[in-house]
Parts: sequence; structure tokens; C-alpha cells
Amino acid sequence: MASGGPTSAKEDQRCRKKTKNLEGCDRLLETYLQMVPVDRQHFTAAQKRSLNNYTVELLKSLKDVLMKTGSTWQDSKRLSRLVRKGSYRRELKTFPCTPRPPFLLLLEMGKVFEEDILGWLRQIYVGMRLPHDVENPLSARTMCYCFRSHSTEAVFYGACVGSFVGAEKLRKYFIAGLKKGWFTDSIVSALESVRDDVVESRVPFDSEVECSAFQFGNKNKVFDNMYKIGPCYRCKMLFQGVNFTPDRNRSRGDEGFEWGNCAEYYAFSQLCNASDAT
Ligand SMILES: [Zn+2]
Repeated sequence: MASGGPTSAKEDQRCRKKTKNLEGCDRLLETYLQMVPVDRQHFTAAQKRSLNNYTVELLKSLKDVLMKTGSTWQDSKRLSRLVRKGSYRRELKTFPCTPRPPFLLLLEMGKVFEEDILGWLRQIYVGMRLPHDVENPLSARTMCYCFRSHSTEAVFYGACVGSFVGAEKLRKYFIAGLKKGWFTDSIVSALESVRDDVVESRVPFDSEVECSAFQFGNKNKVFDNMYKIGPCYRCKMLFQGVNFTPDRNRSRGDEGFEWGNCAEYYAFSQLCNASDAT
């Protein structure tokens, strides 16, 4: 009898992860189809191009996520239908860069045509939930925004990378992101300077930079409740001169994220890039 035993328990767990990832992917695409306008007649040419680029990157990103747990993109009915319908098969093979995480891409799509980004984020998060209030493995639990006080510049958003990428993927993502302008030099250098959990080259900011991170709560199974959280231990170590709201000192033991997961990196980079451009 081959049943029972540690090997089959491991195999069961792998199988469950694979199924949950596939369900998560399908749910994310359903949310995408509900929220991103099909009728783009009123959009400018730049908006249309932008949405199309995000869509191709999203499909590529989902393909990568599925591969991580041993599925192919053809295993997801929604994904293969969308690839066929939009004739994206060639792009899926040839799209050159390391894609951004799917949740972050949905966030970015909202920015193309939606003013209320926090409302948009909440809708994505709620829309992506799996049955019985199970959290979607492709959801980013933590989001953040940052801006410069006394400035008319926009507010910038980021979502955490989550647990769907491994350390090596994360590295590639940051290096690709440096070229693409997703991350600034200072943030990538700071991440690369980490030795034994200490940042040797911190990211300098002036004290006008303000940042709030928030999570969607799951207290009493109410997932659509948003609340502000303090920066994690690693963000406090990585950044210098940022006004975090709330400025709660969390100890190392408070959180289980690896370096590189935080929502702040993306939001801060966007803020830096916008400031450099003016
Ligand atoms: Zn953090």
C-alpha cells in the first residue's frame, strides 16, 4: 500500500497548492474581466495601448505563477480562453521582461482610468476572494501609498509582492525593475546591501515624504475591511527620513516577510521617479 506516509502527505500538500493557485488565477481573471472596461471607445490611444500592455504582462505573470506550482497556462480555462480570444499566444512566448506580480498589475490598470484607487484596490481584493472567504494566494494582503506633503504631486501606490515568488525570482524582478523604472537605483542598492539582516546602504528621503500602509482585515471573516498598519521592521531599517503613519515600531519577530516583499518599495520608487522627472 502506497497511501499514508510522509511522501503522500507532501504530495497532497503540493496538489492542494496547485489547485488553489489555479483557482486563484481563474478568480483573478474573472475580476479583471468584470472591472477592466471592454468598451474602450472613449479611451485615448495612449490609454488603450497602456491597458493592452498591462493585459499582456498580466497573462505572462499568471503563466509564471502557475508554472511555479507545476501547472501550465493551458490548465487554467480562463487564462487559455483569454489568450486565444485576444490572440496573445505569440506575446506569451515572446514577451521579453520579467513580469510584475499579477495583483500589482491589476492595481496599475486601475490607474489608467480610475480616480479612486483605494476603492479600486478594495474591489479587486474582494473580487478575487475564493469561495468560503478563503484568501486568494495571488492577492497582496498589504498595500501602501506615499506622497510628498506640501506638494501638488500625485499619490503613489504599491502592493506587496506576496509569497508567490521565490528569492531568485525576486532578484530577477528587482533587476528587471531597475531597467524598467519600476524601482529606483537607491532601493535596489539598499536591498543588495543587506548583510546578516542589516542594511548597509539605506534609502535616504527628506522628511516631507509620507507613507501609510494598510491591510484588508480578516477579523470575523470580514475581508473587505481596510485598516492602517505600521511599517514592518525591514522598512524601518531600509528607509531613512520617512514619516510612516502610523509610526509603529514593529520588532523583527512581528512579521514573516523576506526582504523584497514590501509594498513600500514600489510606491517609493514611483514617487522618486516622478520627482526626478520634474
Ligand atoms: Zn515593509
